Amino acid sequence: MSRLQKRKQKGIKWSGFIVPNVVKELNLVKEESRKCHLLVAGDYEFEVQDENINYIVNLRERTCNCRVWDISGIPCRHAALGISHRREDLDSYCDSRFFKENYMKAYKYSIHPVPDQTFWPHGVDVTPTLLPPIIKRMPGRPKKSRRKEQGEEPNAIRRSNMVKCKVCNELEHNRRTCPNIQVQNSGRDLDLHVPLSKLTRKRKTPPLAGRKRKAAVISSSQPPAPAQVSSSQPLPKKDPVVPSMHAAGSS
Ligand SMILES: [Zn+2]
Ligand SMILES: [Zn+2]
Repeated sequence: MSRLQKRKQKGIKWSGFIVPNVVKELNLVKEESRKCHLLVAGDYEFEVQDENINYIVNLRERTCNCRVWDISGIPCRHAALGISHRREDLDSYCDSRFFKENYMKAYKYSIHPVPDQTFWPHGVDVTPTLLPPIIKRMPGRPKKSRRKEQGEEPNAIRRSNMVKCKVCNELEHNRRTCPNIQVQNSGRDLDLHVPLSKLTRKRKTPPLAGRKRKAAVISSSQPPAPAQVSSSQPLPKKDPVVPSMHAAGSS
């Protein structure tokens, strides 16, 4: 509140057309421009040599390829040399944000003081009852897992992709592709404690969650069963618990 007023008062005292800090800067620039050498290319175009480097100044476009003028809004020493050559004022080539007029515009308004708490009205409920925002339910199942931060590793999948045969308990093949099935089956029927529907999944129900679906993909992507097994042992497809059906198939 008082800072705004202070700055406003400061601005009123300035006599020039440009903010005093910039006036100071322009004087320095003018001084430095004397070290440069000017080559006139046109009314508004110059080539300025400064420490063995040539800079191109265009006063109409208000550019110098040293880019100081573009960035600061205050003419660089190369441009200043060209402006002096044209016997013009450096002030008029400054960006408008350094004009006193625009400074005063910025501090034109003031913040009004707020009365002390003791002067506030009593018994009046000033603050309205604030209700929580209306929650809009978005489509889809709400996510349970935390959102990963950028660059954070995804969770490792704990389930191994290794298949274990339920007949011989060996890895890397399943019951359908078991090479030991002949030996195991020589005297008796297939081990039917494990329902085969678990292995030969032919689902009619809608697909389950990702994990189960993956298991189905793995079992289906297994290499096809050896010819001897598939021909001599047509496996029960629907209800493996009924042994009679299977026995009929195997005989
Ligand atoms: Zn320059
Ligand atoms: Zn096996």
